[in-house]
Amino acid sequence: MPTVLSHAVIASAAGQWWRRPLPRGFWAWTAICAMLPDADVIGFPLGIRYDDMFGHRGFTHSLFFAALIGALVSRHLSRRPAARARRPAARAHRPVSDSHQPGPALHQPSDLHQPGSDLHQPAAHRHQPASDLHHPAAHSHQPASDSHQPASHLLPLFLWFTAVTLSHGLFDALTNGGRGIGFLAPVSNHRYFFPWRPIQVSPIGVNFFSPRALGVLASEALWIWLPSAIMAASARLLRR
Ligand SMILES: [Zn+2]
Repeated sequence: MPTVLSHAVIASAAGQWWRRPLPRGFWAWTAICAMLPDADVIGFPLGIRYDDMFGHRGFTHSLFFAALIGALVSRHLSRRPAARARRPAARAHRPVSDSHQPGPALHQPSDLHQPGSDLHQPAAHRHQPASDLHHPAAHSHQPASDSHQPASHLLPLFLWFTAVTLSHGLFDALTNGGRGIGFLAPVSNHRYFFPWRPIQVSPIGVNFFSPRALGVLASEALWIWLPSAIMAASARLLRR
């Protein structure tokens, strides 16, 4: 792909389909994982050849590397309970006065005097605060209880960051130049391309003011940015 930023653009666009709230750092890590495989260019000055296992488009573009990064990042983010708790808590505080949240009413005696609020509160909620532990509002009063955050978050996050990291190589495999992608490294150093490669490849260190760069950017606009914009816009519209 021409600019490494485009990997982050399409991953961020796809990420718009995630349901909120998301762990803090989710978007930064999405962008980082999408771009990270190209960190292998540091091998050039170190004397590592393009075709080597750890050369450009080799190991860091592989399935194994994607899964490794997916595991590390998902584990890192799932261990940040404070960041997660803060976001739902902030939301929970806002509707306190609208009387539709049985949890906060327990801590807002003034609400008990609003006739409207009582209409929406089963009596059981007012007398059983412990039963509301699953409610987002309860998190705001029990930050220490985040140990019960759904462990299932780990798997979707792992799959997401693995997919984002792997997506880099998949898009590279759609480019019409350079070497193929070492998807199976370190087991095999065979380099793969898709049979259909519509994306104009960008040479490393391309001058973005050259005529060739404009062709590269036009190709990227068509095959990456446009689908990204459609994907992000449709996610925003459908999630309202
Ligand atoms: Zn790459």
